Amino acid sequence: MQANSSTRLTTGGTPLRIAMQKSGRLSEGSIALLREMGLEFETYKDRLFVSARNMGVDILFLRDDDIPEYVQDGVAHLGIVGSNILEERRPAVDRLLNLDFGYCTLKIAVPEESEINRLDDLTGKRIATSYPEALRRFLAEKKIEATPVLLRGSVEVTPALGVADAICDLVSTGSTLRTHGLRAIQTVFESQAVLICQPNMKPEKSVFVQKLLMRAKGVQDGRRCKYIMFNAPRSALELIKQRIPACRSPTIMDLADQKFVAVHTVITPEDAFWEVVESIRDCGGSDILVAPIEKFIR
Ligand code: ATP
Ligand code: ZN
Repeated sequence: MQANSSTRLTTGGTPLRIAMQKSGRLSEGSIALLREMGLEFETYKDRLFVSARNMGVDILFLRDDDIPEYVQDGVAHLGIVGSNILEERRPAVDRLLNLDFGYCTLKIAVPEESEINRLDDLTGKRIATSYPEALRRFLAEKKIEATPVLLRGSVEVTPALGVADAICDLVSTGSTLRTHGLRAIQTVFESQAVLICQPNMKPEKSVFVQKLLMRAKGVQDGRRCKYIMFNAPRSALELIKQRIPACRSPTIMDLADQKFVAVHTVITPEDAFWEVVESIRDCGGSDILVAPIEKFIR
């Protein structure tokens, strides 16, 4: 379908460039987000960039490590990157939005049989890591004198090789640690994918970025929230509004049976979903329908 020209986003000049990981753990989530934001584009294995068909946007496919510099230097206006890389490099970019995917944690781990159990036990020890700056800052903050050993990969095998006493590495499920006979003793930071932008952008690009940011938030709020509809006795309505914060200001509709009403509202992530459902039932609500929200623009 042809995009309606009145809704087409343009900068009136050169395309806006968005950098994302070419191939890796953040690629699928980044592509899904950009498509849900309305960008129409193809992906090709060997292409380093593509232009969106329906708006003035080029997408650059890069190694994740290069994205912060590209955005900082203004080669790309926006980027999607793990906050772990920002923590390590501290590039001069603005963080616009946490994106709710690419979750992982930088953890310090030791061999199962190690005598190291607490942070203090790391004093005088060697810790292998690809995140030496983040680790150094963390150790300084905790006043622990240990030595980071920089490695680019395969950090988890270093204790077995006698190269280090502990490791500091990204963990998501923890299965890699278990496979290598390691146990975590400390979290350094939590990470997820974030949308970053070049600071001090030209005004026409900045307006475009704000529009894209609104779309990204709309996609995200849509994913996080649920539309809920249920029937309730009219007499229970006040109790429902009082007891259930998610139902404080609902849409109420009359039903054929005057004793009942239909209640429509949105449940946000702050409202614990199943607890809301249980409270609705406790208050006499029934026929509870839950629907996904495609986009939610606040
Ligand atoms: P590239 O070729 O782009 O340099 P890479 O091998 O460095 O790829 P990936 O392993 O794909 O990168 O990880 C990309 C990002 O995914 C990480 O920077 C981090 O933000 C996130 N991530 C999520 N879970 C994990 C995990 N278990 N281990 C490492 N990174 C993870
Ligand atoms: Zn990388």
